[in-house]
Amino acid sequence: APAVVLDGVRKTYELGGQPVHALRGVSLRLPRGSYTAVMGPSGSGKSTLMNLVGCLDTATEGRVVVDGENVGDLSEEARTTIRGTAVGFVFQTFNLMPRLTAAENVALPMLFQGVPSRQRDQRAADLLDRVGLGERTGHRPNELSGGQRQRVAIARALANDPALLLADEPTGNLDSETGRDIMALFADLHAAGNTVLVVTHERHIAEHADRIVHLLDGEVEREERVAEPRRPT
Ligand code: ADP
Ligand code: ADP
Repeated sequence: APAVVLDGVRKTYELGGQPVHALRGVSLRLPRGSYTAVMGPSGSGKSTLMNLVGCLDTATEGRVVVDGENVGDLSEEARTTIRGTAVGFVFQTFNLMPRLTAAENVALPMLFQGVPSRQRDQRAADLLDRVGLGERTGHRPNELSGGQRQRVAIARALANDPALLLADEPTGNLDSETGRDIMALFADLHAAGNTVLVVTHERHIAEHADRIVHLLDGEVEREERVAEPRRPT
């Protein structure tokens, strides 16, 4: 089964008694191992789509299936679990815990899933190694550069071996060279078999993916195959 399936998804908010149609019938599938970017202007529904795929919210209509689970059928508790195990989040602002070391930040999602401490420490060290931070495991976020912080966040996102790596404007707070390094890391993770979804309003970031889904006014305006994805080395 694909990592994610959206089928006729509508999301309607209420604002001052008036309906706001944020998504108006979106169907989309993310095969396992695929690398997709979602682009669209402000207000097109990107955040709403991300919140649904990330199991933070539920659709008004239609089906959202993440890692084989129909999210709309899950209890709030089951949704919290799937959010912590099936999806790994990467944010523009890194969202690391300032008092924890890099290794402790990476171990945290495993702690929430009840992984024993020896296993957590080992996996955190392995993951930090994989993102090129093997020498910085004991550093706190304020002792790391922006690019290094984002690497910690990516290692943390991978902690529970998620079906989907979901990144929201992952280079938005980085200079262009550091941003390129981070996109190179996503390319490596994709090459290693991870399913990646990047939400961005920047075309040059989206062009790292194999496919760009263009959102406009809550609908998929078009899907674009990227003939030659940017793959920095
Ligand atoms: P971006 O375009 O950078 O994704 P937005 O300004 O569209 O940011 O949205 C930021 C957050 O505010 C999102 O979580 C979104 O759900 C929420 N939001 C956006 N528009 C409204 C609104 N009209 N009322 C309440 N919340 C909103
Ligand atoms: P984007 O991330 O592409 O900017 P959003 O998903 O944030 O788009 O917003 C899509 C539409 O839904 C916009 O019209 C926005 O104002 C509206 N919206 C988003 N979140 C809320 C909310 N919590 N309450 C009311 N309207 C919202």
